[in-house]
Amino acid sequence: MPDTLPPAQSAALARVARGSLCAGCGACAALAPGKVSMTTVAPGYLRPEQSAPLSDSEEAGIAAVCPGLGQSVAAQGRPDPVLWGPYREMVTGWARDPALRFAGASGGALSMMLAHLLTSGTVEAVVQVAADPDLPIGNATVVSSDLAAITRAAGSRYAPSAPLADLPARMAEHAATGRRFAFVGKPCDAAALRALCRRDPAVAAAFPVILSFFCAGVPSHAGGAQILAALGTDLDHTAAFRFRGNGWPGRATATDRTGHERSMSYHDSWGRILSKHVQHRCKICADGTGVAADIVCADAWESDAAGYPVFAEAEGVSLIVARTELGARLLAEARAAGQITTGPFDIATLAAIQPGQRERRRALFARLLALRLTARPVPRYRGLQIAAAARQNPLARNVKNFLGTLRRALRPSAR
Ligand SMILES: Cc1cc2nc3c(=O)[nH]c(=O)nc-3n(C[C@H](O)[C@H](O)[C@H](O)COP(=O)(O)OP(=O)(O)OC[C@H]3O[C@@H](n4cnc5c(N)ncnc54)[C@H](O)[C@@H]3O)c2cc1C
Ligand code: SF4
Ligand code: SF4
Repeated sequence: MPDTLPPAQSAALARVARGSLCAGCGACAALAPGKVSMTTVAPGYLRPEQSAPLSDSEEAGIAAVCPGLGQSVAAQGRPDPVLWGPYREMVTGWARDPALRFAGASGGALSMMLAHLLTSGTVEAVVQVAADPDLPIGNATVVSSDLAAITRAAGSRYAPSAPLADLPARMAEHAATGRRFAFVGKPCDAAALRALCRRDPAVAAAFPVILSFFCAGVPSHAGGAQILAALGTDLDHTAAFRFRGNGWPGRATATDRTGHERSMSYHDSWGRILSKHVQHRCKICADGTGVAADIVCADAWESDAAGYPVFAEAEGVSLIVARTELGARLLAEARAAGQITTGPFDIATLAAIQPGQRERRRALFARLLALRLTARPVPRYRGLQIAAAARQNPLARNVKNFLGTLRRALRPSAR
């Protein structure tokens, strides 16, 4: 007999594990501090580890907010296009600060909004994700309170992040000093935080603004390591690593301890490597566009004659989606304060420049159906118009997605 028995497993976390539904947001660790913590598991994803039995209220909290288990959204009178979700305003734009525009993944609009939130006194600090000083291809959650820190964190990092795991520390700070935070996270992180805000007014008071970005999925650390190998180097010889940014889209760049840089294009790093390492939850994600956030940014790619996005290096332009009244007001303020330049955007062009988002939304109904048939747990989605998105697909493509998911789910290794 072992000396100690493992703790009774949380039913919610057990369901998540059975379906490989974890997105790695860290909300469960925030709801059960000291009992659930985030840990890295092979091939390099962040997952919860439970070390003690949960109370009924902890269990209920996780069941209510975990984005692996489900997500809901209500349009509440806003325009609600099938593929893109509720919004108030959709424009293109970029940071007026040239350094921030350069450092940002696209036009640095998201980071410039953060800078505006600080200078306008809307919040005192920002909870966001930056490079992990101990793992150049990994991420760490940071609290930024000036432009220099926001600029350091600018750019997309295609690696796991759990920005909600430290929430109890931020809540303690808010309770002691009244400090308020803007939050930047993946759409699933934003959904979990919005659900936490609905359950607890103190969380809503501490996090008055939620920002996110379009998200095609989180690759494991194995993806980052494969980029290093393709560049002819490895972690031991890497002092710093950027996935992109410093230009638009910017190159995946590894810097060694002597300052020597090796890099590859975004087309090669994302298209040929990282996209092959994306976790299962992301393949059945109904919300890659951040429906729970106040403001969401994305790449406002140009498209070629055939309608496909062009990844040639250019001055960065972000797509900016103000989803809530608050988001629209903050965007108008940043524009009036001269921090962001914006221009019109025709939503009819969005499906062409975001083919990954478009295809995943349309394929989702078929994929979920196949998983349900094999008794695999799937997230419960409400208000995300999954059937309507599937109707935009030809029947043959829905059947292909259904059969592909079914085949993968029936493989012995998928059990
Ligand atoms: C995993 C991932 C998938 C993406 N998929 C798409 C996509 O399908 N389509 C698309 O148009 N855009 C996608 N993006 C977003 C895109 O790359 C840009 O972030 C977006 O265009 C906004 O650009 P910006 O210059 O305005 O943002 P920036 O000013 O560069 O700000 C980016 C912000 O994102 C935060 N951040 C970066 N990486 C992470 C992370 N892993 N977890 C949490 N926060 C992070 C940073 O802290 C910073 O606050 C993705 C980004 C990521 C990280
Ligand atoms: S998705 Fe978030 S809340 Fe759900 S199990 Fe994973 S880390 Fe925890
Ligand atoms: S694809 Fe969806 S589930 Fe995956 S990290 Fe992005 S928002 Fe979260």
